[in-house]
Amino acid sequence: MGLFTRGITFPKAFTTTGLTPIDIPLPRQVTLPLRQYMGEAAEPSVKVGDTVKVGQIIATAPGPHALPLHATISGTISALDETLTYTGIPMPAITITGDGKDTWKRLPKPTSDIDALSTDELMAQVDAAGLITTGMFPVPLARDLMPLEQPKTHLTLDGRTVVQRIDTLMITACDPEPALGVNRFLATTNTESLPIGIAALTKLTGADEIRFIVDKNTAPPAQLTALVAADETERTTITAINGKHYPAAHPAVLIKALVHREIPLPYGHPRDVGVALYDLATVIALGDALTTGRPPVTQQITVGGGAIKTGGIVTARLGTSLGDIIEAVGGFSRDPAKIIMGGPLTGMAHYDLSVPLSKEATGLFALTEEEITLTQGYRQCINCGRCVAVCPVNLVPGMLSLYCAKDRFDRAEQQGVLTCIECGCCDYVCPSRRPLVHLFRYAKHQLMEEG
Ligand code: SF4
Ligand code: SF4
Repeated sequence: MGLFTRGITFPKAFTTTGLTPIDIPLPRQVTLPLRQYMGEAAEPSVKVGDTVKVGQIIATAPGPHALPLHATISGTISALDETLTYTGIPMPAITITGDGKDTWKRLPKPTSDIDALSTDELMAQVDAAGLITTGMFPVPLARDLMPLEQPKTHLTLDGRTVVQRIDTLMITACDPEPALGVNRFLATTNTESLPIGIAALTKLTGADEIRFIVDKNTAPPAQLTALVAADETERTTITAINGKHYPAAHPAVLIKALVHREIPLPYGHPRDVGVALYDLATVIALGDALTTGRPPVTQQITVGGGAIKTGGIVTARLGTSLGDIIEAVGGFSRDPAKIIMGGPLTGMAHYDLSVPLSKEATGLFALTEEEITLTQGYRQCINCGRCVAVCPVNLVPGMLSLYCAKDRFDRAEQQGVLTCIECGCCDYVCPSRRPLVHLFRYAKHQLMEEG
């Protein structure tokens, strides 16, 4: 069986999350961590007692690996403290107590005429918006488009160098996991921001070809279909994949399947093989920011799980606590056994509902005991080989887990633990309920610490 042909096709029951849009009311308070992804923390430019407006910068980016932090509600700075974050790590944060008025800061009117902007002007707008990419390792969109550290140089674009000439811009309307639905939902909408986001990315990447990736299990998205029809050069195409097959939407899998190029794992990136790959949510958020000049202050996530009363595609202000989001969708229908931020397969378990919604989040799931594999009391590996049969990157997860559990990180590295894409397929099928991904993350962390 070849590379990336494995994985799991999930039954319908696993993809039940509805796509009903739900807008969460303005929260009374938001808490905004200074670090909005794994990069550098921003530096506060406000103090307790200051009044702020929506969209106002409240912490500045000290370097290229930090993002500016914007107020997401209007009100008063009530604390400069710490909060637990998406990853479960405590982080300095700014808390705003709202005034309920939702007053926006007056921002300069941008031009959304992409042709009229130089790439530098466009990049400055991308940088100012503070957008991040989605995926396992989110980075600022501006860094992703124009990386600072470049191992090799193939092209000069407007006086600056990029790693590899990008010939293909892929925009996926599929979600990273079958239970997530934001991209599938956005594919059913029609927004002026999408063509603007596409025009900006085409200009910044230099791609000649645009490929939309859609889920064949959903109705053909009208706006994407119209964009394909309107392109007289026939360089815009649409491809349907099976969104129930997991991890079909993983960049390495998609690119291998559609353009027959292999991203060099473990540290490879789509641009290393000439592809720029973004999801619909990122492209629309970029188009919104370029059209309005306003930074994104909300995040769309999928809320679901058997312990949630009403699931759907929730739009909430960044910094809203998980508890406030759950309350706003009607609360729990029963006691949850596990709360996960992100998708059920790759997300982070949380025990504290004060954790704020951040840009990294794709979902919020409150799962019942029947929906989860409790790893307490996991058993010995019985060498059944099921994990091997599903691993999309051809690892031997059972054996790897033994090395990781015994702290034999050298052997785990030799056996390819760093190429694990943390898809969770092995966890899902393991009859001994071994916490395989947890062990691989632990080993990767230790190997990174060792340098
Ligand atoms: S070893 Fe990694 S890549 Fe392979 S199935 Fe498990 S989580 Fe996925
Ligand atoms: S699926 Fe579980 S029990 Fe079977 S080989 Fe893999 S780790 Fe061992």
